Amino acid sequence: MDNISNHRTSALESVLAGAGVHVRNRDDVMQKVAAIAQDGPDKLLFLSDFDQTLTRYWVNGERGFTSYKVVEKSPLMSEDYREKARQLADKYHPIEVAVDMSLEEKTQHMVKWWEGNHNLMIGERIKRSQLKEMVANANIQFRDKCEVLFSELDSFNIPLLVFSAGLGDTLLEVFRQFSAVRPNLHVVSNRLVFDEAGVAVSHSHPFVHSYNKGKSPEQLAAVESFIVGRSNIILAGDSQGDPKMADSLPHTHHVLKIGFLNHDVKDRLDLYMDIYDIVLSGDCDMTVVNAVVQTVLHPPPYSLVSQ
Ligand SMILES: [Mg+2]
Repeated sequence: MDNISNHRTSALESVLAGAGVHVRNRDDVMQKVAAIAQDGPDKLLFLSDFDQTLTRYWVNGERGFTSYKVVEKSPLMSEDYREKARQLADKYHPIEVAVDMSLEEKTQHMVKWWEGNHNLMIGERIKRSQLKEMVANANIQFRDKCEVLFSELDSFNIPLLVFSAGLGDTLLEVFRQFSAVRPNLHVVSNRLVFDEAGVAVSHSHPFVHSYNKGKSPEQLAAVESFIVGRSNIILAGDSQGDPKMADSLPHTHHVLKIGFLNHDVKDRLDLYMDIYDIVLSGDCDMTVVNAVVQTVLHPPPYSLVSQ
């Protein structure tokens, strides 16, 4: 290993030893990073969840909105809608995050939640033109240093594939309003279908929910054109289901999984360290993710991540 590689690797090891970074098998992580680096950027895909992975869990001292919450909390929607959406969330969110229920059982509940939520939005006759204002007024932000990640991936022509069980219409509007739409961005998510007057009348099928991301034939068909030859994956997520996003992608070789553990760290750290290679606790920025990406992309010494 040459001096630059040594320097780069030790910079990553320093980042991995930082506060709030949890790694069960450091040698395994370093070996995966080295293998992905060796195969080069042409083989790499960055696969990410959106809500509270790319976006912050806390924003301005309050819970950050998800792409669905942007609509659910908007004053442009009726109080009746917001109350019914809240009732659905109160019923199904505990099931989504429960650690003592099988994924199969959770899946049945998730489909009911998504169906109910979309039917409420359609019943409310939500308009495409309202989404821009909803996002502009929403408590939602990308994590700090996301722009560094987006720029690095774009400059190496690495696809940024966002698999989201959220609402693609507001998610993409967030990318637009933060000037983060780049040619390498691909989003697979749930979409509203609007009529000629711009009123929501239907939704995309089948739903992408928390536990089928990356699995349905429709999702795989949507991504096949730009993942050809991308056998190595850096995956970022925050839920129990996110590490499985890459499982059905064809011809994968090395998958390095980075998980954001946003809450209940004490109770869930052990589980998260089982399912993610690197776990980041607390509502941290993208420093660790960027350090991994920069190590993989063989940057010159002047752009090394520093402490
Ligand atoms: Mg998420």
